[in-house]
Amino acid sequence: MIEIENVRKSFGSLEVLKGIDLTVEKGEVVTIIGGSGSGKSTLLACINGLEPINAGVIRIDGTRVHDRTTDLNRLRRKVGIVFQQWNAFPHLTVLENVMLAPRKVLGLSRQQAEEIAVRQLTHVGLGEKLSVYPNRMSGGQQQRMAIARALAMSPEYMLFDEVTSALDPMLVGEVLDTLKMLAEEGMTMICVTHEMGFARDVSDRVAFFHQGAMAEIGPPDQIFGAPRQPETQAFLGSVR
Ligand code: ADP
Ligand code: MG
Repeated sequence: MIEIENVRKSFGSLEVLKGIDLTVEKGEVVTIIGGSGSGKSTLLACINGLEPINAGVIRIDGTRVHDRTTDLNRLRRKVGIVFQQWNAFPHLTVLENVMLAPRKVLGLSRQQAEEIAVRQLTHVGLGEKLSVYPNRMSGGQQQRMAIARALAMSPEYMLFDEVTSALDPMLVGEVLDTLKMLAEEGMTMICVTHEMGFARDVSDRVAFFHQGAMAEIGPPDQIFGAPRQPETQAFLGSVR
């Protein structure tokens, strides 16, 4: 599980995480919603060890992310992350792009890496695109390739940071469907999203972030149906 305890994080004099507490159990899907600048991306970056923290602790299956002795590369294999945009290598095919990390990071043979990449690309519906170059695909297909690339490392946890925000509205659905499929398969996920319908549909719990704090967390029916905090009510009022 992912345990986040009283995490504080500042950039210079700006405190962007003001004591976050959150435990995500194995198999759980937690979505994070909230306005721009509320600290959502920063939290994901801290969970993955991409950013140091100023106070508190984050543990993945009991291992402290920010301990000097923690092998971050090993940890990141366990915790995949997908961003709004991923710049694939344009001179490599889709298959070669997805094979890269299993080859280089996991040290798999070409054949093993190819087998995994084909399996994951097929899983996200890109089985017909293996030999295509990334820039010949739609934005939605490229995001699904990015998800396949993360899955090729056999992560136990997945973090998604607004993976549909850069997409044409028409292409959002296919990517959300892919996330939904992973959720149904039991993947443990934290998804930062602006897609409220998706959050309502797939989440076990929804966390609302406001100015660096988790203002409210609860089951989707409660957060969307009966938000308790005025900040949550105002935010949901503004995105509906
Ligand atoms: P969100 O993802 O909720 O929009 P972020 O976590 O990206 O918010 O940002 C939270 C705050 O931290 C914002 O005020 C942002 O400007 C600031 N911030 C984020 N990353 C950095 C950075 N690398 N250096 C300085 N300030 C940053
Ligand atoms: Mg963000």
